[in-house]
Amino acid sequence: MSQPGLPVLPPARHHIGGIWAQPSGGETIAVEDPSTGQIVGDVAAGSAADIDAAVSAAHHAMYGAGRARWAPAQRQAALLALADAVEARAEEFARLESLDAGKPIFNARIVDVPGAIAALRYFAGWATKLTGETMELSTPGNWHGHARREPVGVVGQIVPWNYPLMGAACKIGPALAAGCAVVLKPAEQTSLSTLRLAELASECGIPAGYFNVVTGLGAEAGAALVEHPDVAKISFTGSTLTGRRIAESCGRQIKRCTVELGGKSPVIVLPDADLESAARGIATSIFFNTGQTCSAGSRLLVHASVVADLVERIAAIGASMTIGASGDADTRLGPLISAAQHSRVSGFVESAQAQGAHLAAGGALSGKGHFFRPTILTDVTAQMAAVEEEIFGPVLCVAPFETSDLDEIAALANDSAYGLAAYVWTRDITDALGLIDRLRAGTVRINSGGGNDFSMPVGGVKQSGFGRENGRAGVEAYTELKSVTMAY
Ligand code: ADP
Repeated sequence: MSQPGLPVLPPARHHIGGIWAQPSGGETIAVEDPSTGQIVGDVAAGSAADIDAAVSAAHHAMYGAGRARWAPAQRQAALLALADAVEARAEEFARLESLDAGKPIFNARIVDVPGAIAALRYFAGWATKLTGETMELSTPGNWHGHARREPVGVVGQIVPWNYPLMGAACKIGPALAAGCAVVLKPAEQTSLSTLRLAELASECGIPAGYFNVVTGLGAEAGAALVEHPDVAKISFTGSTLTGRRIAESCGRQIKRCTVELGGKSPVIVLPDADLESAARGIATSIFFNTGQTCSAGSRLLVHASVVADLVERIAAIGASMTIGASGDADTRLGPLISAAQHSRVSGFVESAQAQGAHLAAGGALSGKGHFFRPTILTDVTAQMAAVEEEIFGPVLCVAPFETSDLDEIAALANDSAYGLAAYVWTRDITDALGLIDRLRAGTVRINSGGGNDFSMPVGGVKQSGFGRENGRAGVEAYTELKSVTMAY
């Protein structure tokens, strides 16, 4: 087992206008190592004044007098250079992310850092591919009509703590490709890798003011960003509770917003499924990142004829995952992000048990780090909070069904306020297509437990939010069409 030493932390400052910026006040937020509960550093607690400075830098970069045009090919080159710079420091980023977010270093090396690099490269390509349209007008006379695609303006981006670096790359990539200037507020628990990314960006040809980072609390820095009159659009990923507040504020201001929120994604397993592949996919979906993934498949709806076999296989995979400190090379399941999250997850499991659910595997671990075992609850009912609400922990709720009627199966899956993702395991193409038709979710995966391809749009329906990120739709969301009509 190798235990890397502490990585060098970025300073407790914001990154505004291409340089480190002294916060306007002296308040800081402690950075905790979730594996030990120890404080390893601090970040600045940004204020409305810091947000104002960052928005002003962004506004100046886009609209200031005498500014140089940032052409599409330059944006592409800068994003590619940033991806190369992250790749050249991949180990440093992996260690920073692992320490800050409690991610097993193994995962940070193979998922978070390569994912961030791939996202930047994917979005770089879009900078030179965005186009408008020309129209043939029917109005009498001679006309030329076209709709040009312009950057929407300064955008505020608010990121959660579960995938800090990849989340930041997926937010800045499309916005910068579209020509928008960004003010990004990382989650207060996990700001380190984003600060390092901003520092690198200024060395990679991203003009000063196009990528600004202000760290701080949601209720202060986050709310100030949402409320700022010079911010044209907010892109938020996080809880439904906070997303609702942000969407309300944006509605009042007639400000564009995209909100990618919580999920309680169903996993349907039909009796003909390949149970070994299903068990692996389901375990990965709910246990990876210690269950702290918006699209985690957390409600297992499985045909009664195979439930015992499947649960046994998933439990065996969970039990085989090495739980330990995030910096340990052997660790496959790190801690939850915080003590608050640990008690929240424990609360869901305990209340389900009190209502008659059976703890088939796992449960909380006590100690200084915020560890929680891969957990399976059976004998659950649809009314339990553990089944209704997003837990954001490694907890799978299992409910068997007897029917083979696709309407009835889909009704069980759709019986949720959320609609982020849905998973189906079957070898029958007709059942798979029939369920795709019926499932109310932004993403449906057939015989797959997860994994991101940046070409695929992601987002939710119902309480999981609106708007799409990634893919063409995700880039176009940072643009606005301007209709131009010319008489000749
Ligand atoms: P969690 O409760 O899991 O931390 P949140 O949805 O509250 O999830 O947090 C996601 C992101 O939203 C974080 O960056 C957080 O700081 C930010 N945030 C929280 N509250 C607000 C708010 N009122 N306005 C803007 N951003 C907020």
